Amino acid sequence: MRCAILGDIHGNLPALEAVLDAVKGEGIEAVLCVGDVVGYAADPKECIQIVRERAPFVVAGNHDCGAVGRMDLTYFNSDASDAIEWTREQLSEEERDYLAELPLTIQLEDVCLVHSSPHCPGEFSYIQTLYDASVAFGELDRGLAFIGHSHVPVIFVNSDPVDYLVAEEFDVPPGKKVIVNVGSVGQPRDLDPRASYVVLDTEQRKLFMRRVEYDIEAAAERIAAAGLPATNAQRLFWGR
Ligand code: ZN
Repeated sequence: MRCAILGDIHGNLPALEAVLDAVKGEGIEAVLCVGDVVGYAADPKECIQIVRERAPFVVAGNHDCGAVGRMDLTYFNSDASDAIEWTREQLSEEERDYLAELPLTIQLEDVCLVHSSPHCPGEFSYIQTLYDASVAFGELDRGLAFIGHSHVPVIFVNSDPVDYLVAEEFDVPPGKKVIVNVGSVGQPRDLDPRASYVVLDTEQRKLFMRRVEYDIEAAAERIAAAGLPATNAQRLFWGR
């Protein structure tokens, strides 16, 4: 089975559409989402609608939680919290209920989905360093964990010592635990502005780290038209 794993869409509709277009040719049977469907950009409602239609398994990100009062806005910087407050006003009650009911983690056989970290999903701490990853591996029972949150695609492998890899293709080693950050659809931060997602082939035990160009200009114009912070648009061009 082939799955596409997306995350950190952040209300960026042109980016989400480009990714879903790109996965059409991938023979994908399931779309999974590691959270932050909303926040920062101008199309939270459309992104929620598409994710609801396409992704049967979705976990909550911190922006999803912020948008429905599951999380205090003091956690966020002002560009983020301004966008969360704006997002809150856009959502219907039904859309709010959808975000409010998203679980923090989902376990599908040996695949775990979580926005931030498998060991403390409600704290929204980051897994960015080898140390962070080694702590997370200590609490991860088995298999593969797909995460987002940092917006930087990377693979951590529970070797001795823990390995940190950036690769387009990766064979999941049998018996090893692996944490994969799928990067961000709607606001990449690794200086590559292209939308990021991952394909998992469960039979081949292979991961493909994908990037796809999208209409950044259109996303930026929509952010400006909505009156959202200008930084939320500018950073899309820089990929940071
Ligand atoms: Zn995010």
